Amino acid sequence: MTPILPKATQPTTTQPKTKLPGTPPLAGATRALPPIETMVRATLERDASYEGTFFLGVTTTGIFCRPGCPARTPRRENMVFFPLAEEAMIAGFRACRRCHPLEPRGATPDWLRSLLEEIEQNPDQRFKDGDLRTRGLVPERVRRWFQAQHGMTFHAYQRARRLGRALGEIQNGGDLLGSAFESGFDSASGFAEALSKLAGVTPGEARQSTTVVVDRILSPLGPMIAAATDDALHLLEFANRRMLETQFLRVVRATKGVLVPGSNAIIDQVRRELDAYYSGKLRTFVVPCAMPGTEFQEAVWNELRQIPYGETRSYAELARAVERPTAIRAVGRTNGDNRLAIIVPCHRVVGADGSLTGYGGGLWRKQRLLEIEGARTPPPAAGATSKKS
Ligand SMILES: [Zn+2]
Repeated sequence: MTPILPKATQPTTTQPKTKLPGTPPLAGATRALPPIETMVRATLERDASYEGTFFLGVTTTGIFCRPGCPARTPRRENMVFFPLAEEAMIAGFRACRRCHPLEPRGATPDWLRSLLEEIEQNPDQRFKDGDLRTRGLVPERVRRWFQAQHGMTFHAYQRARRLGRALGEIQNGGDLLGSAFESGFDSASGFAEALSKLAGVTPGEARQSTTVVVDRILSPLGPMIAAATDDALHLLEFANRRMLETQFLRVVRATKGVLVPGSNAIIDQVRRELDAYYSGKLRTFVVPCAMPGTEFQEAVWNELRQIPYGETRSYAELARAVERPTAIRAVGRTNGDNRLAIIVPCHRVVGADGSLTGYGGGLWRKQRLLEIEGARTPPPAAGATSKKS
């Protein structure tokens, strides 16, 4: 069973201005959620005025909705909330057929409807420009629509849908692990297929390889993906971070392993430690980790782990610490290549003036992580939440 989000620790920072349908969200901007009580109430009251501020996932049905959906109201303990439709998809939720959360209200043009339905029926198909043209669609127009409506590219949308479907199958990870091996990935498991393709591993090779189990962990900052062998954690990432596939490939290369959906004791331990971290009770992760890299990368990553909880360092300080004071850029890049989010705390590295700079999982997450650790204070909440009576 998928763990339910710890309710008390869901993001409760202020929300950005209510997004009007058709208004593209600002790329990389903070997308925090309204307070949890507000979202629960809006859901129970089917208050459509919260349109655009959050999406609701229902864990019992695996479906996600927009606020105000007329479908049956879920029980509170089965609600999870997402700032972006993309995150709900990656967490394995399917779009509701009543409220069509991927279609801005009244804005889905007829010319696009059949494509959306086709993707929904066959998420594993990759639609290239030529495929769009044979359906009488102008690729550029399709891309513009997705960018404008969902703030993501058509490519990102398809990827989110595939990954979400695949990860949705992880829920029965234990069984899938066995069956995926027995069938040599010939089963219908989208996840196994997607990941073995990604890894370039044939079924025969798979049987001889190290097993790297991949599971998702729901967190207050959105779904995370963990990958582990029997003795170490190799990857922990926010599911919608950029370059997730690349990071998976690096794990495959480093372990010479094959990725299969499932869980093990290492992942159980990560899940427990993350729970404790998010609730402010854990400062140092002790789960065994493995992240081989070049000598320089390993030096930087080791140095990152020396930054105490609750503190930050600049890139220049980090470069000096690894005795490469002029390699600030390389240090930044290595920071971004970190595959163990939170555990190797690359979020504790900030600009020379203290400003938050790049973070693979999104700047809003960097901000929230530093808030959890007490290294940043939350932005003032005054008046930003639209309370109605
Ligand atoms: Zn719905």
